[in-house]
Amino acid sequence: MREQILVLEALQQIDLELSELEVHLKEYPDKISILEEELKSSKDTLEELNNKKEKLTKTKSELESEIAQNEESIKKSEEKLFEIKTHKEYQALQKEITETKRMNSDLEESLLGEMEKIENLDKEITKKSEQLASKDSEYQEKIGEYKLELEEIKVAYEPKKEQKEQTVQTLDPEILPLYEKIMKKNNGEILAVAKNEVCTGCYMNIPAQMFNEILTLTRIIQCPSCQKILYCEEESESEAKTA
Ligand SMILES: [Zn+2]
Repeated sequence: MREQILVLEALQQIDLELSELEVHLKEYPDKISILEEELKSSKDTLEELNNKKEKLTKTKSELESEIAQNEESIKKSEEKLFEIKTHKEYQALQKEITETKRMNSDLEESLLGEMEKIENLDKEITKKSEQLASKDSEYQEKIGEYKLELEEIKVAYEPKKEQKEQTVQTLDPEILPLYEKIMKKNNGEILAVAKNEVCTGCYMNIPAQMFNEILTLTRIIQCPSCQKILYCEEESESEAKTA
């Protein structure tokens, strides 16, 4: 039976390692996708800013061409003034010129507004691009590290599973279901040392007769309180025997 305790101990250790590897197998892809999503969101923000700039630039050039057209028409009208014979016609054309000039001055004001917006946007784009560039290189490096670590874990996982299968084969088939049951209940802790009629897993007393049985280890004995499989360490066993 002591041999079986050793197998249980080995199995418990393998399962602990397997569950750690499983945590990492899940954790690293999560870590990687968090970084990738953050990079994507920064890239999207930058793209939005660039689209906004494109729209503003289009508005700006529309205003510029409207202003140029108006200037052209003012120039033509001013030339026409010299050819006009009647005072009434002269006044009408003069009025039209004044109105076009007023319109153009409004358009120029809007143009200045658009230019200012573009200038501010340019600053923001430069800032965000620089931030993205440094974030990108930092994150790519981290992602690379995580991917390497993930590969290492994958490489370690399969042999560990095989090791478990082999170890399970050396375990008494009747003990396996018990092992799995206690495993689930106790978060991976299967065994507890019994010492001085106390379970060191939960610190509850063990009945004297049961403790004697644990000393001789003729069968698997579970702690009545925490259900862990009890065993005595060699040392305390011999102590108890001589006592
Ligand atoms: Zn216990």
